[in-house]
Amino acid sequence: MQKVIRNTKSALAALLLVGLVFYSVFGLNNTETMATANAETIGSYQGKQKVVLAAGTKYATDLYIISSGKPGPVAMVVGGMYGDGIAGIKAASEMTGYLPENGTLLVLPEANKLAVQLNQKIVPGEDNLNRIFPRSAQEEPKNVLAKAIYDAVKQYNVTWLIDMHESNDFSKLKTGNTGQSLIHNPDTNASVVANKIVNTLNQDISKTEEQFSLLKYPAKGSLVRSSSDYLGVNSFILETCSKQKLLQRINYQVKAASLLLQEIGMITIPAETKVKVVLAAGTKYATDLYIIKSGKPGPVVMIVGGVHGSEIAGAQAAAKVKDFTIKSGTLIVLPEANKRAVDIKKRLVSGEGDLNRAFPTTAKGTPSNTLSKAIYDAVKKHKVEWLIDMHEGFDYYTNSATDSVGQTLIQYPAGDMPKMAAKIVKGLNEINSSKARYTLIKYPVKGSLARSTGQYLGVNSCILESSMKQSLSVRVNNHLKAAGILLKELNMQ
Ligand SMILES: [Zn+2]
Repeated sequence: MQKVIRNTKSALAALLLVGLVFYSVFGLNNTETMATANAETIGSYQGKQKVVLAAGTKYATDLYIISSGKPGPVAMVVGGMYGDGIAGIKAASEMTGYLPENGTLLVLPEANKLAVQLNQKIVPGEDNLNRIFPRSAQEEPKNVLAKAIYDAVKQYNVTWLIDMHESNDFSKLKTGNTGQSLIHNPDTNASVVANKIVNTLNQDISKTEEQFSLLKYPAKGSLVRSSSDYLGVNSFILETCSKQKLLQRINYQVKAASLLLQEIGMITIPAETKVKVVLAAGTKYATDLYIIKSGKPGPVVMIVGGVHGSEIAGAQAAAKVKDFTIKSGTLIVLPEANKRAVDIKKRLVSGEGDLNRAFPTTAKGTPSNTLSKAIYDAVKKHKVEWLIDMHEGFDYYTNSATDSVGQTLIQYPAGDMPKMAAKIVKGLNEINSSKARYTLIKYPVKGSLARSTGQYLGVNSCILESSMKQSLSVRVNNHLKAAGILLKELNMQ
């Protein structure tokens, strides 16, 4: 249970990290005031304030005002216009952790808080909130909540607005559905930016029906339409599709809003970086560790080869993984964990212990030598969430005449590992059958990297064992396939 919580939290925390440098580290100013702050007061301080819209009514909902302290655009992110648009609510809530470099960011995560609490599109018996904004320049919003939201857009001089919604199906599949679309008013400046956001989102989406469409004219009476038509705000509705996984949908919403903020100069999204560092530097164990950062939120995955120097497929596969590019999260690769053993193609260096028995065997234990300590520290330092340690066996596990674990995935069955392990084994068995099929087994041996990180650090860990009965190229391919499945399942590739 502990582990599940930790992993969910860290996945969500990782989502916040678009634009690491602006990540807000200061606390929320808890002074809840009525929405009386005006355009002069925002932008004159740096930090986050919370005001309550429709304060004192049953619609009361929090609006976060995050100021860079510098001049610039005023952008507003809205979630929860419909109470069942869960991805938008979560994405907007995460964006309350952003600190822009320029201008001011307003975030309203739960526009229709009553409906959000009911987890229903609209509050039964009430009008659809997204149809009661003004339909002419003279008209007023039709209830207290719509008026409070519309007044905030006016009062804070919002110049850009993104309203996060969800639809039941893909817009490219059936007419009338708007899932995976950006809906804008093409008569405004929003058009050019909307095009860029859609094109950038689509760069990472291979299936045509899942690509984002650029649609036009938000419905009359919607916040986006009214603020665009009558207040001159550059506004969009972003629609994700509830047929996709929640994490993916939140990711799209956060990414689209981040792209908007980047486009209008409020934040900078760091580009992908690859760096090589040396573990156990300055010792005879020194070995290269590769860190590939996508610059986008996502999990931290570590791939290890060469813990046993004679098991060359793992080291060769890891050497290829270090050249992967990823679209989200962080990939850490240690191709030659025990480099001196890899160099002589021996399981271990004679006179030295087995590296895969040198990791802690108790919660308070410590790694037993310099190299295992350097590796274990790296797992902790980089907050690794997933780890595959690539090994080899001399025979097939399916051959009961030997005790070999060749062609197995040995998982530490905690957290999200069992589900993922089953998917990896299923994928491997699409290319391995009969006696060469992979078997999912459990409990990496005590003192192994996978066991210790799984049991004591909460990492989703496993050992993948190919069989030396297969050709080297097939074995390397098996390891690559496993790494590929993991990265794909985590939306990193
Ligand atoms: Zn091994």
